[in-house]
Amino acid sequence: MRIFSGLETIVKKDCPLSDYTWYGLGGKAEYFITPTTTEQLRDVVTRCNENDLPMRVLGLGSNLLVSDKGVRGAVIKLAGEQFSKTDFSETSVVACAGANLSKLVLDCVRKGLSGLEPLTGIPGSVGGAIKMNAGGSFGDIGASVESVTLMDKQGNIFEKSKPELAFDYRRTNITAKVILDAKIQLTESDPEQMLRTIKEIWIYKKNSQPLHTKNAGCVFKNPRGLSAGAIVDRAGLKGLKTGGAMISEKHANFIITEKGCKSDDVKKLIATVRERVKEEFDIELELELEIW
Ligand SMILES: Cc1cc2nc3c(=O)[nH]c(=O)nc-3n(C[C@H](O)[C@H](O)[C@H](O)COP(=O)(O)OP(=O)(O)OC[C@H]3O[C@@H](n4cnc5c(N)ncnc54)[C@H](O)[C@@H]3O)c2cc1C
Repeated sequence: MRIFSGLETIVKKDCPLSDYTWYGLGGKAEYFITPTTTEQLRDVVTRCNENDLPMRVLGLGSNLLVSDKGVRGAVIKLAGEQFSKTDFSETSVVACAGANLSKLVLDCVRKGLSGLEPLTGIPGSVGGAIKMNAGGSFGDIGASVESVTLMDKQGNIFEKSKPELAFDYRRTNITAKVILDAKIQLTESDPEQMLRTIKEIWIYKKNSQPLHTKNAGCVFKNPRGLSAGAIVDRAGLKGLKTGGAMISEKHANFIITEKGCKSDDVKKLIATVRERVKEEFDIELELELEIW
């Protein structure tokens, strides 16, 4: 712990990450760090950098599979009020990275501010949503982002704004270690109409996704012009099991897990799906799920 001396209240050694991800799988983080202020975060980030300690930032863990052997180095989770604030001003909102995305979507709708409805039913934090450019067939978060505040691994804080910000399918050009907040531009709209829209999206998701299971959303990216789920389905892999991991019968791009499942089960199943899809259709499926 010498490297983090003086920060013992926010640093846990050998902390199980299964408590912090949607899958609820995987091993421990060597250091699990929960800074509550920008100053603490800068202190943590610079100490990691100076000591060549790998660092990762965790949002709500809804797009992650943590390996059974755990993660070396520091896993940083932004904690507390300062990192979860949202500040509305006329038709925009500055949302801190730790803010809950689903709550933000609802707050916008209640205020009659349109733009984030396409993110209905996507769990996660604002930071994770920006890093992943979360979205789907209804739209993505990048379309509404005006600027972001970032921290690099030396602890420098800077802003990146349109047009130097680029968002693409499930990716951004943000390379800085930590996203601190984002300014999101919205437009005035009718709250009743927006409420109807998010209900429709919600019903669509409820009907098409295995929402009451342990999963991390879509495992594979859609190859250009194709649906990864449809490809896995056409390969006849729905319901395929490895240990406690199974291809969902409801949506073939979801891998769901049951009690006793190991991360390795999910990894093996992913490898099998990729192999079978390559053999059958000569398509190389790329991961959307991030593996630590
Ligand atoms: C039921 C279900 C449905 C889903 N549906 C969708 C969907 O329709 N569309 C979609 O796009 N995704 C979907 N997902 C995946 C997931 O919800 C999104 O990718 C989400 O944006 C991840 O946010 P998170 O905070 O949980 O990030 P995490 O999973 O914790 O992390 C994801 C990535 O973001 C990085 N990150 C997180 N916070 C920060 C930060 N502050 N600074 C820098 N990097 C950061 C992490 O290091 C990691 O690289 C779904 C997941 C589930 C479980």
